[in-house]
Amino acid sequence: MASTQPASIELDVHKELKIAWSDDHASVYPLDYLRRNCPCAGCQTQRKEAEEAKKNPRANPFKVLTGPVLKQVEALNVEAVGNYALRFDWTDQHNTGIYTFGYLRSLCPCGQCRAKT
Ligand SMILES: [Zn+2]
Ligand SMILES: [Zn+2]
Repeated sequence: MASTQPASIELDVHKELKIAWSDDHASVYPLDYLRRNCPCAGCQTQRKEAEEAKKNPRANPFKVLTGPVLKQVEALNVEAVGNYALRFDWTDQHNTGIYTFGYLRSLCPCGQCRAKT
């Protein structure tokens, strides 16, 4: 089991979030990657619709082009939610996603973690 206990968290509000996990793994998340993977219900629905549209383009050929288009997103602020999650205030006004450490760990974009999924 990969650790979901962060040893240190470092945020560069213009660029990326770095988490060093207690099992010595380090994750670096570009902020727009985190924003795109926002776990809130609204964003999940959006992502699901975008995926369905990709699988079934004929149902609505224009859907593919109207997926969430995000400009460069930065974080205004990040705060801890209890001791199990982080919540971001994004520059696009969005702030409802609660990123649990377990979710963040599963999102780790490094080659080693991606190879496992
Ligand atoms: Zn969201
Ligand atoms: Zn990783």
